[in-house]
Amino acid sequence: MSFEDLPVEVGVIYEGERVRKAQMYCEFGGPKVTEKFELCRAKKMDEIEDMKVIIEGPDISELEEGKSYPLGVIAEVAGEQIEEELEGVFERRLHEFNNYVQGWMHLNQRYDIWMRLSKDSFNKGLNTFQVVGTILMRLYKAELPIIEKIQMRFITDPDAIKPLYEEALQIYEARDARARALSDDDVEEFYGCVLCQSFAPSHCCVITPQRMALCGAISWFDARASARIDPKGPNFKIDKGEVLDAFKGEYIGANEALKEKSLGEVTRVFLHTMFEYPHTSCGCFEAIAFYIPEVDGIALAHRDFRGPTVNGLAFSTMATSVGGGLQTEGFLGLSIEYMRSPKFLQADGGWERIVWMPADVKERVKDGIPEELFDKIATDADTMSVDDLKAFLKEKQHPIAERWAEEEVEEAIEAAAEEAPMMPYPTSQPIQMSTMNIPLTGAGQDMITLTLKGVKIYAEKAIIKRTKGKKGK
Ligand code: SF4
Ligand code: ZN
Repeated sequence: MSFEDLPVEVGVIYEGERVRKAQMYCEFGGPKVTEKFELCRAKKMDEIEDMKVIIEGPDISELEEGKSYPLGVIAEVAGEQIEEELEGVFERRLHEFNNYVQGWMHLNQRYDIWMRLSKDSFNKGLNTFQVVGTILMRLYKAELPIIEKIQMRFITDPDAIKPLYEEALQIYEARDARARALSDDDVEEFYGCVLCQSFAPSHCCVITPQRMALCGAISWFDARASARIDPKGPNFKIDKGEVLDAFKGEYIGANEALKEKSLGEVTRVFLHTMFEYPHTSCGCFEAIAFYIPEVDGIALAHRDFRGPTVNGLAFSTMATSVGGGLQTEGFLGLSIEYMRSPKFLQADGGWERIVWMPADVKERVKDGIPEELFDKIATDADTMSVDDLKAFLKEKQHPIAERWAEEEVEEAIEAAAEEAPMMPYPTSQPIQMSTMNIPLTGAGQDMITLTLKGVKIYAEKAIIKRTKGKKGK
């Protein structure tokens, strides 16, 4: 495959390249733009024209320097073995292929893409989607030979993009909904993905029906379809093997796969908790879960949440410190779809442990949150500090506040025990057995018989009372 006819270079060496603001010519998608998406669609052979680039709206050369623009990218593919099931994984490859282009940075996935073009590459001639599209199509055909025909669409026209964006959201939702009908217990195999190892070498996603990959772009069905057509590719089958802990989500097969793929760096993984051996986090996770020790609860934030979260740290700050393929107790990269899973952080208490999340994510996953908890979980509209959060949770009677009450009682008992330790009965004179008959005044022959066997008692005072009408035994 050659790219010599094109104005910029293409190769794996550009994969980690960042285009900073100062070097940027313009950007597409990203935080300043709502309408942005990338999609792959399976088409019939006669529906598309091979290697054609379609640009709907202004091309790069017609755009102003320094600005952010909406963008829709649609890769339409056809081939004898191409089916709709493959759309998700083919689409995910856009991240990798875009990043091979010199001076063209691609971040995130689906409805959340962010592309930046450098001034250097623009000046070299990367001033049209024709070039970007041609590169992507050549890479697709070289890497995935089952694609017999491919056509790329780039949409920048704000009026044209709007309905397509809405349609894309529905397509993502339909893909994810499919996996919702299955449970981890229904299947014999999970799937792995190592696509992110290029920048997170010890990272390997374990994808199960109830744990969508943390990038939010690959479900169990997507990974299965991909592993079937390309078993040597980035997705592969993991035999579940013996279940070591169904609640935490520990499986021998997943442990072994991780050990192999991380070259021994990671040996155990618990799929449904963020403590002990949490799943590794690469860098492209859709959302993060983070533990707040002051309230013993877990907060969530998604990539689009700008500025500091309730613990004072921004998503980007936390993401930088936990990414790279690490297992970090108390921090976990996850997909928004996983929040809907019935197994969502189940070993940590699931939704009963969630104390704070951005209002818009809360709205998005509303149907997955138990109704009685919905108003008890704080959002950025309610509180932005840990102190306020504590007051909020107490006032709303969040289940976590009960945990504090139990902990407070335990602490009080411990403190009292430390202050006034129990005096042990002197072991040199143990009571082995003692029986006493105590006559009751004014009750004829009635007696109380008190028998003590092998006990050690220390009491400052003993009060025995007769309840009227009842005889002691
Ligand atoms: Fe694959 Fe996981 Fe990276 Fe998604 S986050 S591309 S599933 S390795
Ligand atoms: Zn990743």
